[in-house]
Amino acid sequence: MTAARVIMLEMSSAELSSLREGYRFGEGSMAGKEVLIYGGGMSGMVAAINLAREGHRVVIRDMEDSYGGSKIYNPSTHVTPIDLEKTSQYIGIDVKPVFHKVIRCPAYFHDTMMLWPVYEVFGVERGDRPGSLDTLLYKECLDLGVEFEFSTPLKAEDVPDLAPGTIIACGLIPKAYKMLDVPFLQVHMWLSRGEIGFTDYAWLWFDESITEYGYLSAVNNYYFNLLFSFGKRVEKYALEKYKEFMVRNEGVEHDEWDYQVGAVPLLKPDNYRLFRNGLIMCGTMSGAIDPFMGFGISGALVTGKVAAMAVSDPEAAQVEFDRFLAGFRRSFYIKEMWKRFVRPKVNRLERHIRIAGVERVNWLMTLTEREKSLIPLPFATPGFGHANIYKK
Ligand SMILES: Cc1cc2nc3c(=O)[nH]c(=O)nc-3n(C[C@H](O)[C@H](O)[C@H](O)COP(=O)(O)OP(=O)(O)OC[C@H]3O[C@@H](n4cnc5c(N)ncnc54)[C@H](O)[C@@H]3O)c2cc1C
Repeated sequence: MTAARVIMLEMSSAELSSLREGYRFGEGSMAGKEVLIYGGGMSGMVAAINLAREGHRVVIRDMEDSYGGSKIYNPSTHVTPIDLEKTSQYIGIDVKPVFHKVIRCPAYFHDTMMLWPVYEVFGVERGDRPGSLDTLLYKECLDLGVEFEFSTPLKAEDVPDLAPGTIIACGLIPKAYKMLDVPFLQVHMWLSRGEIGFTDYAWLWFDESITEYGYLSAVNNYYFNLLFSFGKRVEKYALEKYKEFMVRNEGVEHDEWDYQVGAVPLLKPDNYRLFRNGLIMCGTMSGAIDPFMGFGISGALVTGKVAAMAVSDPEAAQVEFDRFLAGFRRSFYIKEMWKRFVRPKVNRLERHIRIAGVERVNWLMTLTEREKSLIPLPFATPGFGHANIYKK
């Protein structure tokens, strides 16, 4: 029995038939259903665009008072490996104009630098500024007549009454995970953002004071800087250390930092689900985020399309979902090993790079670039957005 079948069988036959029949928050017919989406970020809007094009009436409800995704996180800039041509084709939306090739991405182990390969790595802006992904998607939604109801959060008391087939695309906001019983890890983070005098650039910083990494990305001369750990507070001293690192190695300083706690569905190896209690999960909440590095952009784009497909053909959508999420477990377990045995010893990693020779390591990295290979990334990106997953 395939994985897709097993998960479908976890849904009751009533749930399944209501999904097949078409679900309504108002009235609707098979030809034009009325579909409600909670969460008007990137995946919610990709789902909405695809559904509106099929002739459905689509309403997006979002907790924020205007478009641009969560105001806690956006405006922001993100970096991701992605096959833009194939992703645009798959989701039926040309997102290429808002993605920008990253030119350089140094990765620091303390102060020892190696160059991260940036083949097929792009930066993208989120939020409501003119060059953002959300602006592109929002305009398309409006052109297609998608209706937006802002300042309308999904609340715990609404959950029992949600019609089967309601799409849930609430991103990384912990409240949504709690009310829908989606197991999650807390993400603790210091954030900083603003205008900056460079673009298409990123860096990564590994240090023992955090479980994940510090990174700055800059797109459209706007920067977003994040220092984060999974499941544990990022202490002030870690931020001070990061700030000193930035000044020492990159000559960059910013004083305003916010502390936030978010959620990621990376608690368990089987965290990913297209359907939960008859609801259609979409974007990061569905588990479409890479457990190793936390890349969520390409997963959100493709699962937006899959969620739209689930409205009229849940079985086919499940097959697609499983195809995209096929590497989740593998990446999850590799991350567990990395967390336990490698990541805590940044000194050792640093020493190995020095023994191998920083110049030689960086020469090897440029080779991966020239050979168009993602050598350090195949385990880190379980297929999301990469050419191989589009092969049937
Ligand atoms: C700080 C940060 C940095 C990141 N960096 C990267 C990166 O560099 N590269 C990468 O690939 N990925 C990155 N990610 C992950 C990536 O951004 C996400 O995986 C992706 O944006 C999620 O898209 P989404 O559509 O699922 O959710 P979002 O685009 O976040 O949209 C969620 C929407 O749901 C709304 N919402 C939330 N709760 C409710 C509710 N109860 N009721 C109604 N509406 C609600 C929000 O207001 C928001 O509009 C990062 C994430 C964060 C938080």
